[in-house]
Amino acid sequence: MPATETEVLIIGAGVLGAATARELSRYKLDVTVVEKNVDVGFGITKSNVGVVCQGRDTLEFRPEYHRSHLLWKSIPVMESLCKELEVPFKNIGCHIMIKDLVKKEKLDKGLKRTESLGLGTDRYCTYSELKEMEPYVSKDIVGSLYDHAISIVHPVVYTEALMENATANGVRLMLETEVTGIQQDPHMFTVQTNQGEIKARYIVNAAGEWVDRIAAMVNADDFVLFPIKGYVGVMDRKCGGMANSLLALFPEEPGDMNIIVPTVEGNLLFGIQLQINRRHDRSFTEHMATEALKNARKVIPDLSEKDVIKSFCGFLMFRNFEIGWHECEVAMSQRAERFINMTIGYPGVSASPGAAMEIVDILQKDGLKMEPNPEFNPRRKAIPDFSELSDAKRRELIKKDPLYGHVVCRCETVTEGEIVEAIRRGATTLDGVKFRVRPGTGRCQGGFCGPRVTRILARELGIPETEVTKRGGESEHLHYETKEILEEGGSNA
Ligand SMILES: Cc1cc2nc3c(=O)[nH]c(=O)nc-3n(C[C@H](O)[C@H](O)[C@H](O)COP(=O)(O)OP(=O)(O)OC[C@H]3O[C@@H](n4cnc5c(N)ncnc54)[C@H](O)[C@@H]3O)c2cc1C
Repeated sequence: MPATETEVLIIGAGVLGAATARELSRYKLDVTVVEKNVDVGFGITKSNVGVVCQGRDTLEFRPEYHRSHLLWKSIPVMESLCKELEVPFKNIGCHIMIKDLVKKEKLDKGLKRTESLGLGTDRYCTYSELKEMEPYVSKDIVGSLYDHAISIVHPVVYTEALMENATANGVRLMLETEVTGIQQDPHMFTVQTNQGEIKARYIVNAAGEWVDRIAAMVNADDFVLFPIKGYVGVMDRKCGGMANSLLALFPEEPGDMNIIVPTVEGNLLFGIQLQINRRHDRSFTEHMATEALKNARKVIPDLSEKDVIKSFCGFLMFRNFEIGWHECEVAMSQRAERFINMTIGYPGVSASPGAAMEIVDILQKDGLKMEPNPEFNPRRKAIPDFSELSDAKRRELIKKDPLYGHVVCRCETVTEGEIVEAIRRGATTLDGVKFRVRPGTGRCQGGFCGPRVTRILARELGIPETEVTKRGGESEHLHYETKEILEEGGSNA
């Protein structure tokens, strides 16, 4: 197989790789993204709570942290970027709550620090002000620091949109392509993958959980990452109205992340229950799940276990403790030329536009010629969301394409038209369709629509239903046709 040659190779199509690809597509450059998964955003990015933070928590976002600057650079552009890409972006605000007036002093201190950094206008809310905005909060709360600017996005939808726009502007995306080795020659890298060799002048290593391992392939590992697993529970949409904004208890200890947050689709998420853990292992214990719900009930006592419809875990990858456990790595390697490491444990989604702009700066400073791409189109059209349309718009859509008249997912009112469009845009698995247009995210978790989506995927991709997987690799969910088992059983009888 002849080697692919590219000027910039991005390893990883998570939110950071996708944002970088899109930013680089503004220039006349040959850019390739390799992703080992079957789809984009299936790494850490999919296990995210979708908060677009504002960097006002001045203990978490100290001026000496690089990640604070990446975030502050991102804040002014995030909303307009989402508009260009037609990604739902919702401003919800946030309350950091206290149960004890003694802690008010700490909130006041935080407020002063925010003001001194010129980071916007938070204000203190008394219990009655808070209760008016959030009627379900516990009566044990005495007040809160309110940040009106906190917003939310769907992290995977945002990542898909970035990548869709990047590829429309000329970036090459190679899925199911895993980097297994890298050699550095004086002017080129030779990258081994399971799909053959790729020659690249620059490498942007945005491999999420595996950034330090990839860096070690070229001896560029002058940093170590340690993984902290985060558990998150998802509540049914019917609980959506129980929190309008992000609700968080003032942390008892540094790194405490107990929050309740609405999603753009109207569910509630709660967590994040943290645990130091081995990479890759996304399992969680009953203890993590119960603790997370117990903590959430300290804020909203009426949350019921019966309404938890799903749970997931992801990894926050942090740099070594000596330089601050929050710190990130978005920089040219100190040891390997033309090799850029890119990892942000938290908040990678919120800081992604700024981090991508920083990669452009690094490449320019290193002498890469970057002329504007005259064909660059910043806009991308979203897949129509049938459930949100007026009756007139629905009729219009069905007239154009009758598949929009067939509801496949009843919990979320998702039509066959939306599913087929998601497949046309690159979804090849049940999760790929789910993240793009939501069938299977409702109360029944795909119990009803799963077989129907499988059938549509098989038909559109021209493969047997037994080859349709949940998320690629060995995640097939149909092992045999029922008749096959019956026949086998019969012959054994
Ligand atoms: C529970 C939780 C909640 C969070 N909530 C928020 C939040 O509200 N707001 C926020 O801003 N941030 C949040 N974060 C942080 C945020 O999710 C991460 O900072 C961000 O997703 C990291 O993105 P990434 O692109 O670096 O990594 P990833 O999404 O993991 O992308 C890396 C990609 O590289 C691929 N890859 C790895 N190795 C190879 C290889 N050898 N070859 C090819 N491809 C490879 C992977 O498959 C993966 O797709 C949260 C994180 C967690 C765990």
